[in-house]
Amino acid sequence: MTTEQRQQEATQASVAYQLALTYIGVKTIQEALAMWGEVPTNLKAGQGAQWLAKAVSLIMTRRSRSRELAVAYFRLARALRTGRTIDDPLKPTPRVVTLDMLRAEFAALIAPEAGLEPAYRPGASAARIAAGELDDEDDEPAQRPQYDPPADGEDDDEIPVERLDGFTTELARQERDAEAEAEEYLEWLGLRNLLAKLDAVDDTRPAQEVDAARDEAHLHAGTRQAAEAERIVMDGARATTWAASDKDGRVKGYARVSTTGTPCGFCAMLISRGAVYKSAAGAQYSDGDAYHPNCHCIAVELFDEQQFAADPRTALNREYGQLWQDEIAKKYSGKDAVNAWRRLLRARAKASALAARSTTPALEATPRERQADQQRERERERVRVR
Ligand SMILES: [Zn+2]
Repeated sequence: MTTEQRQQEATQASVAYQLALTYIGVKTIQEALAMWGEVPTNLKAGQGAQWLAKAVSLIMTRRSRSRELAVAYFRLARALRTGRTIDDPLKPTPRVVTLDMLRAEFAALIAPEAGLEPAYRPGASAARIAAGELDDEDDEPAQRPQYDPPADGEDDDEIPVERLDGFTTELARQERDAEAEAEEYLEWLGLRNLLAKLDAVDDTRPAQEVDAARDEAHLHAGTRQAAEAERIVMDGARATTWAASDKDGRVKGYARVSTTGTPCGFCAMLISRGAVYKSAAGAQYSDGDAYHPNCHCIAVELFDEQQFAADPRTALNREYGQLWQDEIAKKYSGKDAVNAWRRLLRARAKASALAARSTTPALEATPRERQADQQRERERERVRVR
């Protein structure tokens, strides 16, 4: 197997990893919204503890999956790109492994039977619903994570295993923080948020209006907590690869990659920075591991300086980098630059939405569209439960 074939396989694994992580996120949202159905629309202060415990446990279970996936991906990608891998921080690892072992480990985690049914097509649906193009049934199959490693076994090279100092400790710290964060965010954005909204409902209005207002409050709080649940679960993987990359001398830097192709203005700005190398990046470096709710960006580790220019996944980074140079850097600075950048991206998004109206756009959903999407999913979930 040539170096080039290995690079290609690493890219293929990375795409599969990103897609699998997206599914884990989407399934988390679906489950978090379904579980939110247990919280009554006439919630009273002091209630909801049972839901909270269940919801936190759901997050932590899904987060473990996302973390395992990230570890398996990183070990394989590093082996393919550098000929060496790292210790599995989650379980005892032999000192020498083979490529096939790493492939099998990764493939098992993204296999259909691993529970990643593509019940939902991320990204594309919202714009089409808004355009009235979709009825209730999805009309095209979702894309599955695909990874087809060479199967003939003739290339079963031995791969030395290296140890990343402090990696296991860092993951344990992340795990504790994530649990505390899940408890706090779900309580505030779910339960307390709902209580505050219910408090604001004018119950002197006709019963039908009051019910509708309560339902809306319930949906709104439910959507907020579900988006945080997704973020915390996806962060399980994102923070794992980040920590590994940060501690790994063989990783030279990272590129922030949008998995939807249509990031928000803030993420687009980070994406426009292109490849961020450890040595030169200074304070900017840590931005690579910051994500907001509904954020589907990811930091892709770079093992050498050729990877960024050659990788199809960083095409948007190169495009935004050029755009920032041409339209922003020469004309604005500081806060003005950020505002001009947001305006520019909004105008571009609008233009491409208009242009794409007759075709099938893959636009990132606005919060409102996402909410509509999630409501649809929630209703479907209810129907399934019945
Ligand atoms: Zn963003």
